[in-house]
Amino acid sequence: MHRLFMGSFAIALYLLPTTALYHNNEHDHWNELRGLTINGSKGLNTSQNQNSRLPLVIDTFQNPTHNDLGFWHGSGENLSVQHEPGFIRLFPTDPDQNFHTQFDNHLCYSLVPWYNEFLHVVFEGTDQFSVSLNQHNDECNPRRSPFPSVADSVQADRYVMHPRSEASGGDEDGDDDEDWDEDWDNEVDMDTDRKSKKHRNIGNPRNSRLKYSNETVEIPPGRRELYIPLTHFEIDFNRVVSVSFNGFYTQEPITLHCVEIVPSVPPPSPENGHFHLPGKLPSGRLVLRCSRPNSFAFGIDDGQPQFSQQIMRILDEENVRVTFFVVGAGLRDPSSNFSTFYKEMLKKGHQVALHSNTHPKMEALQTIREIDDEIIQTVQVFKEQLGIGSSYFRPPFGTVAARLRQQLARHIPNPYIVNWSVDVEDWLWANTSTPEKQLEAFYRDVSKGGNLAVMHYLHPTTIGYLPQLIQHVKGAGYEIMRIDQCLEDVSAPPL
Ligand SMILES: [Zn+2]
Repeated sequence: MHRLFMGSFAIALYLLPTTALYHNNEHDHWNELRGLTINGSKGLNTSQNQNSRLPLVIDTFQNPTHNDLGFWHGSGENLSVQHEPGFIRLFPTDPDQNFHTQFDNHLCYSLVPWYNEFLHVVFEGTDQFSVSLNQHNDECNPRRSPFPSVADSVQADRYVMHPRSEASGGDEDGDDDEDWDEDWDNEVDMDTDRKSKKHRNIGNPRNSRLKYSNETVEIPPGRRELYIPLTHFEIDFNRVVSVSFNGFYTQEPITLHCVEIVPSVPPPSPENGHFHLPGKLPSGRLVLRCSRPNSFAFGIDDGQPQFSQQIMRILDEENVRVTFFVVGAGLRDPSSNFSTFYKEMLKKGHQVALHSNTHPKMEALQTIREIDDEIIQTVQVFKEQLGIGSSYFRPPFGTVAARLRQQLARHIPNPYIVNWSVDVEDWLWANTSTPEKQLEAFYRDVSKGGNLAVMHYLHPTTIGYLPQLIQHVKGAGYEIMRIDQCLEDVSAPPL
């Protein structure tokens, strides 16, 4: 059911073992790569350089395996790509797929000096994807779990510059924002702006001259540009790993030409459709680890009704409290008896939290309305069937990017969006001739520092291993608790 959504990212470890890895200062390093010397400054954080300094060119796709900083770029989750010097073309089929371009191989890269600048992306094709900035783990060690750790994501189409073109005249349907009016009716500020732009005949930037890779060059027809304030990515800027493209809700190709950080955006003008930056939309709190020292939490998802009594008995016997992520439609189904079961689990002190209404890959849904429907329905059924609300949500399949995060934050104040750093991999091994690989997977992730688990009670083998998993965690010195407790949520019940 669940997939290790960032697993294939690990291949980054094996590439480019250059001396650059051990360079004392990453900023000097990129300057060297680019043949620059900047005033002997190490941090480049002087404000007088703000408007005069050159862009930090991350990637112009000259090389198939590494970017302009000398570090790995590549795809994950079987995303097909086509590389030619100067661009990479992505052929997405799934929102879990991703393309990363890294700031470093092993280290935590500090983007602090660029905090007030802008991520600039030049691309062609659809804008139905997310752009993410990924954070390293606490130890800045890619062999520890999770790697990468959290990310923040923005929705690309909100940041696209829409230059005006004489050539596009009159085609009212010529833009690709057909869902705009429906999806964003309540959005502040941008709504009227975007609608009015629609009436100004958005088209290709045929006549615009814009900053691109440190030179004022003409952006060829068909190319589009994103400007994203780095402040819109709420991660730790001392520990950045990569920029990534993910959350595709399209199967149209996307061609990336340039990823860079620039000090400013072009001022509003007729040529760029009077482009102005949208506001940051809240995106909740993505968590993959417990924060409380020595804590460990099990997040147990989905489940088969016939195994619920067995799960309850094991948790009673082991005297541990866990968090269940429950699908709304299952609670409504009287034949599952889940409503009675989870009321009982709440009485016993377990946490019961949201896992969508019908368990789709929510980032793959075409419209915001469908995403909203999954959230609103499950909130409603929790209220009706269990008499509770929850601000904890686990995305089905762990699939999460900008749109789901934004809509969760719109309906649930400051939600916790909970993935994991320990995966029992029941979805991979439970029904095979080697079910014991579930134990290996769990032990491996615990040994790598993971402390927030994902599992399901869908298969007898997984349930059979649960006492061993609990014993293993206790034996390693952890205290097992609910996820809200392990995250030190002030509204969680006392331990
Ligand atoms: Zn699930």
